[in-house]
Amino acid sequence: MTKYVFVTGGVVSGLGKGITASSLALLLKSRGYKVFMQKFDHYINVDPGTMNPIQHGEVFVTYDGCETDLDLGHYERFIDEELNYTSNITSGKIYSSVIEKERKGDYLGATVQMVPHITNEIKNKVYEAGISSGADIVITEIGGTVGDIESQSFIEALRQIQYEKGSENTFFIHTTLLPFIYGSDEIKTKPTQNSVKDLRNMGIRPDALVCRAPFPTSDAIKNKLALFCSVDKENIIDSIDVKNIYQIPINYYNQKFDEIVLKQFKLPVKKADIKYWENLIETVDNLNKEIEIALVGKYVELHDAYISVAESLRHAGYKYNTKININWIDSEKLENHNTNLKEVFKNSKGIIVPGGFGSRGIEGKIKAIKYARENNIPFLGICLGMQLAVIEFARNVCHIEDASSTEFDAMCKNPIIDLMADQKSVINMGGTLRLGNYECTLKKGTLAYKDYKQDKILERHRHRYEFNNHYKEILKQNGMVFSGINEQANLVEIIELPKHKHFIASQFHPEFKSRPTKPHPLFDSFIEASIKK
Ligand code: GLN
Repeated sequence: MTKYVFVTGGVVSGLGKGITASSLALLLKSRGYKVFMQKFDHYINVDPGTMNPIQHGEVFVTYDGCETDLDLGHYERFIDEELNYTSNITSGKIYSSVIEKERKGDYLGATVQMVPHITNEIKNKVYEAGISSGADIVITEIGGTVGDIESQSFIEALRQIQYEKGSENTFFIHTTLLPFIYGSDEIKTKPTQNSVKDLRNMGIRPDALVCRAPFPTSDAIKNKLALFCSVDKENIIDSIDVKNIYQIPINYYNQKFDEIVLKQFKLPVKKADIKYWENLIETVDNLNKEIEIALVGKYVELHDAYISVAESLRHAGYKYNTKININWIDSEKLENHNTNLKEVFKNSKGIIVPGGFGSRGIEGKIKAIKYARENNIPFLGICLGMQLAVIEFARNVCHIEDASSTEFDAMCKNPIIDLMADQKSVINMGGTLRLGNYECTLKKGTLAYKDYKQDKILERHRHRYEFNNHYKEILKQNGMVFSGINEQANLVEIIELPKHKHFIASQFHPEFKSRPTKPHPLFDSFIEASIKK
């Protein structure tokens, strides 16, 4: 029978529930169990695809084309499993499905209510994840903090699951904060006590507490928490601040967190195979070189907007024993005529232009791309970054001065980037981009082929616009190589400039497939080239 772990949060948000859930999942997987992960978000948006990245952070895309919360990126990076559309459930998804069923007449005769209709729908999403994944253990993280108005129906559904499945099949983890008060110099437990009280008022008694604190908690504090919160002392786990998030699974392993869960589930505690992760930590803690990479974007004030790109750069750095310092550059600032690009990029050994939407800041990105191209600085363009690399090349090398994308200039005379025919009739904005895995065929003898060492690859997409094949010939004549093509739809997937030290860009998002122990080939070679003198 599938076992279910739930992770809730208390006191404040931002305690790292996602990392806690992923770390535990990694440990359970390392003991031979098949795990699957899922996140519940309370907002009414059906998915985060239509939200501003400055508010919400990156939109992570699964292989089957679901636009999801960035925590799914952590999950995939930690457990190295591809998740899917059953992994991110929002209130919007739950409500639309209940309303659709009501209109169809599925509840004929009934008054449709929060309990049981909404809560049943939520429970079904948990059970569906268990059945479709075939996992031994499903770990579900509940977004927000307990007590939020929006979370009530989710918590109520979990209470029902606890009642239906019993404590041998469910495990509740509550993550909280233990603040340290300077002056009296003590750790305070009251916020945790109150937050556990809130949870218990809703009928859930947590099985474990994960307490975020600046340093390990004392025995006395654990005794106090155990007494006031009715949680076994051994089940109170320290989550101390760390420099590197990949350290957290090891910290939990040392506190036997996974063993505690398995014991409650009455599952055998098989031998853990985590040597590979310990080796990773060893590497990360002993990086002996460092380089700066410039990341040019328009959402740079919130680093979480580019979290998978930043992680992918770091992963590639680990392979070369190199710490990557990201030079976050606001593309709009580059547009100012007084900006001295030489000064901005003086320490940057590589330039990356990631994805984005809309016209704000694009001219600044184009300037950065031109600078990388003309100064032989390794360049990696992703999605919008590829589209702008093509526009820059068309304008400045092929002399098509008004080359642009119809995304920024609907009437432009030379739409080097344009809508695909099947996108022209799309009316809804949500969920209608070209999303998820598409095949790409690589051309032998190119940089892309050298990176991947195979001719067919599958990569994840999230875009509406495409390279316009009408301009392929003229760009080719001027030296651009189209090294990756989606043959089914004849779409350009990768471009490169062979005369340059390292200039490559993809229409897809390689950052979604990088893992700390397995850097993505495009990031790997980009960092390798950036390190090379
Ligand atoms: N805005 C561009 C498009 O829709 C690029 C999208 C992206 O970078 N993710 O095609």
